[in-house]
Amino acid sequence: MTGRILIVDTLPTNRIVLKVKMLAAQFKVDACGSRLEAEAIIARDRPDLILINLSDQAEDRHGFCRELKESSDTAAIAIISVGIADTARARFAALDAGADDVLPRPINDALLLARIRSLLRVRHARQELMLRDGTSRALGFEETRSGFGAAARVALLSHSALSGRQLAEKLDSGLTLPVLRLETDRILSTSSVTPVPDLFVIDGTRCTDGGRGLFRLVSDLRSRSETRTSSIMVVLPDDEPEIAALILDLGADDVVSKSVSKGELVLRAKALVHQKLLHDRLRNTVRDGLQAAVTDPLTGLYNRRYVEPHLARIAEQAQATQREFAVMMLDIDHFKSINDRYGHAAGDKVLIEIAHRLRDNLRAIDLVARIGGEEFMIAMPRTSGEQAHAAADRVRQLISAQPFSLGVDHPMITVTVSVGVTTGGLSRLDRGQINGMCGQADAALYAAKSAGRDTVAMSNFATA
Ligand code: GH3
Ligand code: MG
Ligand code: MG
Repeated sequence: MTGRILIVDTLPTNRIVLKVKMLAAQFKVDACGSRLEAEAIIARDRPDLILINLSDQAEDRHGFCRELKESSDTAAIAIISVGIADTARARFAALDAGADDVLPRPINDALLLARIRSLLRVRHARQELMLRDGTSRALGFEETRSGFGAAARVALLSHSALSGRQLAEKLDSGLTLPVLRLETDRILSTSSVTPVPDLFVIDGTRCTDGGRGLFRLVSDLRSRSETRTSSIMVVLPDDEPEIAALILDLGADDVVSKSVSKGELVLRAKALVHQKLLHDRLRNTVRDGLQAAVTDPLTGLYNRRYVEPHLARIAEQAQATQREFAVMMLDIDHFKSINDRYGHAAGDKVLIEIAHRLRDNLRAIDLVARIGGEEFMIAMPRTSGEQAHAAADRVRQLISAQPFSLGVDHPMITVTVSVGVTTGGLSRLDRGQINGMCGQADAALYAAKSAGRDTVAMSNFATA
């Protein structure tokens, strides 16, 4: 895994030792001794992760971490605190300042590298989501780490109800939300866990098989679709750095040892829940953004961008099933005069009402799109020419028979549409041929206009 790492330590020998290790692991590395230098490097090179010695007395390192995590520009940079004394108080202070992990000296190299890989993995996933979201300032960074409300779900997985009791008590009282208790064997044998927890805390303190059961459990949770995005924290017996490193590499987000203080455990759990919820939100904005990109804001119908790939899928299906599909082009008659007489807002009302009538009166599998100002396209899978003609005429009457309301200031008006229809798809259609089919429907539409409007005209693509 590649990544850019910044080492911040006032002691040159510490910097050199770490730098050599990082270079050997193929990371790009910068190193510096002061906050001022660090800020310049961060602004210039945007490191993915910072290894910082929080026991440096010369400057307020904790304050520096806090500021990095509070700024939306730098909040996503992972921070590992190295070199502090291994006391509960120092560890808590480091995590509370925003460090993602704390590795006191002497540092276990395998664990340090696994920890870096795990944090970089999370960072890369987040960057990808933000990129797809199209916004570099992800929503949610303004939230404090503890602000996820009562909706979060945390589950404790343990061998038996009894064995995880101590951990459960620590989590319950610290998180101020009910912690779900689950038995490990049951999780492995059931196919789904509902509702899906945001965080799984796995009690591995009694592991006696060299970690094999835990490896299986973590891999299992990571590979199931419903738990794939949940955060995972594993609690291990003290002094098991090799197992910890492997567990991180298998996809756990955090490992802590059994003697972890309640404060630290809760702080880490909160950070993992926050991370999961932030990623959920990013994923949702990506989904909503995609939805917005293919939808017409006025009518809520699909737009032109959506039509092309969708028609390609319909065409493939038509050929595979040897059932024709129909394309209808529908254009409002004399729409300009509605705008001219009653105003643009009244015109918009007509467009919205037409969209409603179309959507309410076609099958769920039919695609209804607004492809131009007052032009709509309807694609109907599994539809013969005869059926398409009947459907088009039904749609035409649906519009002309029922007058449109333009609001209290205006009279009800009659609106008519002209429709051009074509069917085809029994032989394979490439992109150009699908466009050709739409062109045929367009030509039929113009024929309907020439024939006097408020009518349907057909053009059979297969024989055209
Ligand atoms: P025809 O029967 O030949 O189709 O005549 P028409 O007036 O419907 O067609 P024309 O292409 O001359 O005019 C279309 C009008 O649609 C012109 C444009 O101002 C209007 N229009 C396009 N988009 C919108 C929209 O979003 N809202 C409103 N209110 N009007 C729109
Ligand atoms: Mg038009
Ligand atoms: Mg028109």
